[in-house]
Amino acid sequence: MPVLTDMPLSRLSITILTGAGISAESGVPTFRDALTGLWARFDPMQLATPEAFAREPRLVWEWYAWRRELIAKAVPNAGHHGLVELEARAGKLVLFTQNVDGLHARAGSRALHELHGNIFRSKCVEDGGLVGDELVRASAEVPPRCPRCGAKVRPDVVWFGEALDERILSAAMAAARACDVFVSIGTSTEVYPAAMLPQVAKSSGARLIEINPQPTPITASCDEVIAQPASRGVAELLSRLV
Ligand code: NAD
Repeated sequence: MPVLTDMPLSRLSITILTGAGISAESGVPTFRDALTGLWARFDPMQLATPEAFAREPRLVWEWYAWRRELIAKAVPNAGHHGLVELEARAGKLVLFTQNVDGLHARAGSRALHELHGNIFRSKCVEDGGLVGDELVRASAEVPPRCPRCGAKVRPDVVWFGEALDERILSAAMAAARACDVFVSIGTSTEVYPAAMLPQVAKSSGARLIEINPQPTPITASCDEVIAQPASRGVAELLSRLV
């Protein structure tokens, strides 16, 4: 298969954006997959909002508690591990993930930014201050209460309609502008502002590569599309960067 760029990997600056698809092979369902069992009749897009938490805090908390349990049992797959290898071999690599599952960190990625937070952290709904896991687990109330002010505690994730952390977003924009190669993996590129990143990279002159078994809104503007599940797609990416 042809190499993806003439520049040697050891000098290449790579920015990566990942989404739920890279964790699908670890058994973590994407939001677009139909959910099974207990939660099949709920739409994740409706539960992952500040309005849903305000209206039905118990329901939303319990849904996240169920997802936390599912994710705690999952392990990183070959896609996550392949990106760790790529980071070791690339001139520079920075990884931005929309996932809240912590699997990239568990695999060993180092230059990693979680755009949408982390499901294993909790925070006060009022002041955003973090609330420790022990307090959350020990709480008899659902959702737990903030030990400082008594307000409800929520997962420290970015819900639909909420703003991203300014510093992480501007680091992502800068990395998209500065890289030689931008790789979008397992994301539908429909959730903004993260979905802007591939476009910013492309218009700044980067080669744009997508790994996704399904086409997305950015597919047509990509320089290379690897239409494979993430595990095989990342292996192919590694073999085509030399
Ligand atoms: P998405 O659900 O919108 O899209 C998933 C994408 O992954 C699709 O384009 C699909 O074709 C692709 N895909 C499915 N299986 C794949 C595989 N094996 N390999 C590669 N690609 C595969 O997900 P999104 O774009 O990340 O956006 C949804 C939002 O939901 C994000 O904000 C994210 O925070 C949140 N979310 C996170 C998790 C997680 O942490 N694992 C899971 C579900 C949703």
